[in-house]
Amino acid sequence: MSKPHEEVWNNCLSIIKDNVSHQSFKTWFDPIKPLSLKDNTLTIQVPSQFFYEWLEEHYISLLKKTIKKELGPNGSLEYSIIMENNYKSNKTYSVKVPTTNRNAIKNPSVSMPVDVGSKGIKNPFIIPGLKKVVVDSQLNPNYSFENFVEGECNRLARSAGFAVASKPGGTAFNPLLIYGSVGLGKTHLAHAIGIEIKNNHPNKTVLYVSSEKFTQQFIDSVRNNTQNDFIHFYQMIDVLIIDDVQFFAGKEKTQDVFFHIFNHLHQTGKQLVMTSDKPPVEMQGIEQRLLSRFKWGLSADLQVPSLETRIAILEKKMYTEGIELPKDVVEYLAYSITTNIRELEGALISLIAQSSLNKKSITLELAKQMIDKFVKNTAREVSIDYIQKVVCDYFNLPIELLKSKTRKREVVQARQIAMYFAKQMTKASLASIGAHCGGKDHATVLHACKTVNNLMETDKRFRGYIDDLDKKISIQ
Ligand code: ADP
Ligand code: MG
Repeated sequence: MSKPHEEVWNNCLSIIKDNVSHQSFKTWFDPIKPLSLKDNTLTIQVPSQFFYEWLEEHYISLLKKTIKKELGPNGSLEYSIIMENNYKSNKTYSVKVPTTNRNAIKNPSVSMPVDVGSKGIKNPFIIPGLKKVVVDSQLNPNYSFENFVEGECNRLARSAGFAVASKPGGTAFNPLLIYGSVGLGKTHLAHAIGIEIKNNHPNKTVLYVSSEKFTQQFIDSVRNNTQNDFIHFYQMIDVLIIDDVQFFAGKEKTQDVFFHIFNHLHQTGKQLVMTSDKPPVEMQGIEQRLLSRFKWGLSADLQVPSLETRIAILEKKMYTEGIELPKDVVEYLAYSITTNIRELEGALISLIAQSSLNKKSITLELAKQMIDKFVKNTAREVSIDYIQKVVCDYFNLPIELLKSKTRKREVVQARQIAMYFAKQMTKASLASIGAHCGGKDHATVLHACKTVNNLMETDKRFRGYIDDLDKKISIQ
């Protein structure tokens, strides 16, 4: 009665497709080949050890669910990994899917004192009429404070989070509302606070829930006539973390029930942590009485990280994944993707996947190709900062000099070259290019472009510089 392996895998793929982003799907699932189906075990071929580990780390529950859906409760999965060294000979070996040894492949360097995932947390209360429940905190141990890089962009939110974690319910930051646009670390920080509270106060019942899930649970409770259980459940939580409260917009009944839960928790000294994509003043479709409560505590924003912070985040990520990359590649990524940390990480991971798939080493060249291919929709263009950096590296000058007003000859020339490339390769206005290059005006930028053009025609060595730099800066 076993189905052919390809059909099973195709069915799995169509489910997986709906559950992961397009980019992740292309990166991680497209390259997989189904090999066989025997005794309810589907064997899939993955291109490398890294692929296998990544799938295990990030997609194992999705994979397991899909396999069970397709093959029934006894269905299982086996990998066949193409080993890096003898890929030419096509020799492979298989590893049984380690549903139990997941921890073995987990990065051992991150020590997680809170075993939130597996043990669950004992509920200190016994509610009459309800059986004793164990609340799974839903915290993701990877989203810890240790893994959260500090920067100017998140200083306030981070330290408020720390304060709350040391005295949940006992600071003025109640509720603590973290807001910021997509991919800047709201969810990460919200989990970090929860994890830190579990570190400091193991007996507190912490619960992380997305507002969509909260809404869905509420709707279900209405349908099943178990609204009271729903409310009781939330009222016994010590630290309630609700992610993306903007999704409550327009959902009056959900807001209503959340309002009551909020009041109960707040009055009994329990901590509320919320995240949102906007500050309370800009939230629409949320009742006034709820908004005014959101403002009771502290609203702290997450801003776009600076270049240094972006590099630090990439380095942290590489460290925890046990990956090493050339410095220029890391810098290139950090220069290229500026406004969304999730995309930044996505690019890093795609790059590693690409390299492991094609057995190519990771070079600047590959990074450029990959960014072009994978991150197209971020409307990337070379930034002035990046141009300045490449030019300064090339001439061995500190970037501060280029941005300063100094008129030293070699700096003036590098600055002119940077202006020339900025004019050619970015959409920045002359005025803005000037402002980036030592506070010059638009006429100076025009003059620089003319000078560079002239020199290129008359000075062969200079022309060589420009050609070199052109190659380094432009994206293939
Ligand atoms: P948001 O919820 O704001 O959309 P997330 O919390 O999901 O963003 O963050 C997106 C990704 O960026 C996550 O993988 C997260 O770990 C990472 N990230 C965000 N901020 C930081 C930071 N300061 N240090 C390390 N990683 C970060
Ligand atoms: Mg989020």
